Amino acid sequence: MDGYDKLVPSPTPDTQPYWDGLAAGQLRLQRCGDCHTVRHYPRPVCPSCYSMNTEWIDATGRGTVHSWTITHYAFHPGFKGDLPYVLVTVDLDEGVRMQSQARGIDTSQLRVGLPVKIAFEKVKDDLTLPVFVLA
Ligand SMILES: [Zn+2]
Repeated sequence: MDGYDKLVPSPTPDTQPYWDGLAAGQLRLQRCGDCHTVRHYPRPVCPSCYSMNTEWIDATGRGTVHSWTITHYAFHPGFKGDLPYVLVTVDLDEGVRMQSQARGIDTSQLRVGLPVKIAFEKVKDDLTLPVFVLA
């Protein structure tokens, strides 16, 4: 895991539970404590009612492919070795969308509605990233 040379996130108090969840092998999503709207990405204010009352829920980690791109050009040198790679936008069972790289999904298999589930890649001692695999 040494030599990881890609851009890395900088957790904040608002996002730390998300990153801690990934490290523990669990996808966590925010849910409004007032109107119960689930949201992703993590942020301090509910987009539906503007409440700052936030809960965290354990997501199923399951969903379906909404869209994808096949990346052939690295916008950061750290990703050159991964080319080409697949980025998927997934409609999670909880009703929110999430983007991540796909793993083990042949591009000929990609279709809207393809069932996928989350997997976890520990890329550094202090960083675990989500990826999607076939469900
Ligand atoms: Zn709300």
